[in-house]
Amino acid sequence: MLKVENLHAKVADKEILKGVDFELASGELHIVMGPNGSGKSTLALTIAGHPRYSVTEGRILFGGEDITEAKPEERARKGIFLSFQHPVEVEGVKVINFLQRTLKNLQGIDEVEAYDRIFQAVEELGLDSSMLSRELNVGFSGGERKKLEMLQAYLVKPKLLILDEPDSGVDVDSLKVIAGVIAKLHSEGTAILLITHYGRILEYLNPQRVHVLKDGKLVVSGGMELVKLIEEKGFAAVEDNGAAIK
Ligand code: ADP
Ligand code: MG
Ligand code: MG
Repeated sequence: MLKVENLHAKVADKEILKGVDFELASGELHIVMGPNGSGKSTLALTIAGHPRYSVTEGRILFGGEDITEAKPEERARKGIFLSFQHPVEVEGVKVINFLQRTLKNLQGIDEVEAYDRIFQAVEELGLDSSMLSRELNVGFSGGERKKLEMLQAYLVKPKLLILDEPDSGVDVDSLKVIAGVIAKLHSEGTAILLITHYGRILEYLNPQRVHVLKDGKLVVSGGMELVKLIEEKGFAAVEDNGAAIK
């Protein structure tokens, strides 16, 4: 489904990703962990095609197709959905209308049908429907923003969902809701790349693989034992033991 080959990427003339390789099979859930500034968000944004990030070497394949130079909208239409670490506020745009427009743009679903789907999804996920009549992210708490993003992902049902720290700045109750949506999408066959630096959200999920990113490189990939190791000893332990764990 997703194949990242020798990916080098830069932002503002600074090389951030320095040769990242990994493969995410259809329906799998992979975790990316790494210290602050290691390039996690850069990896997410580069896969999604954010214009500020340019690939200087290597390539990104999605469903066997080279998307390295594809526009972000094209990638979205192919089924890649990125949940940003810092979602934007848009005054004057109601959440419901924003979601309707998203469904229209990505899947050609008309407003009336979209309206029904949105209310149904809110109910299925146990969210508060009053969120829908508010202005997009305006005055939203961290947890509310993340829940809205998860609602969006749930509606779109992407082939590949990339989540950049969906667990940052949210309380335990919101975390449970967010993890629940991720688990639900995963069980429905969405492939997921989940960036996190806490193990907490992983208590609710069953990832197939864990990757550790340090200074723009995936230094080790393995199973949940890596999460445990990082929680106990910090990221320094991974660098030292990386070869052995592999
Ligand atoms: P992480 O998500 O792992 O914390 P990022 O991908 O956000 O890491 O950042 C990796 C490095 O790239 C950091 O050193 C950061 O300062 C730098 N960086 C990210 N975005 C930009 C930008 N727009 N302009 C300049 N430097 C950036
Ligand atoms: Mg960061
Ligand atoms: Mg980040």
